[in-house]
Amino acid sequence: MSFTFAIIGRPNVGKSTLFNRLVGQKLALVDDTPGVTRDRREGEGRLGDLEFTIIDTAGLDEGAKGSLTARMQQQTETAIELADALMFVFDARAGLTPNDRAFADFARRANKPVVLVANKSEGKAGEIGAMESYALGLGDPVQISAEHGEGLSELYDALRALM
Ligand code: GDP
Ligand code: MG
Repeated sequence: MSFTFAIIGRPNVGKSTLFNRLVGQKLALVDDTPGVTRDRREGEGRLGDLEFTIIDTAGLDEGAKGSLTARMQQQTETAIELADALMFVFDARAGLTPNDRAFADFARRANKPVVLVANKSEGKAGEIGAMESYALGLGDPVQISAEHGEGLSELYDALRALM
């Protein structure tokens, strides 16, 4: 089985955009296995010469703004369990929210390697948010724009270092 990354983070930070960028067209829907949340998505990701399995989290609950629902929590925990390493994504333009910190706690407690991803950083807009994120204790932020495809060589270096 290939090296597996789980993409975790609060809703709306760009997890699925990153997932789709890394997976391209080869998107697979995960079967509805008992005990596994239905909307977890898994695919074969690729970045440069790196190939890995990637798990996206959350989906249906993302309309429910604000609190971390039990379902989001369970889904995140399941994805973390299945993964060899995590990509913790936050919105560098928005800065850190209490919900980001709640998800970061999961990432820290997992005792698995974490890539801290400062998304929405196109055009340097995320500099302040990225600086703030050092306080999460998840390492150095990798500034990317999943939507515009920026920062991918830095992401490559960070992923390769863990695989
Ligand atoms: P998720 O809820 O974490 O899966 O986030 P989505 O991937 O659904 O993205 C949430 C919103 O953020 C969408 O409107 C995306 O178009 C937008 N978005 C995602 N990545 C970026 C980015 O790199 N820059 C900007 N400006 N917006 C982004
Ligand atoms: Mg999503």
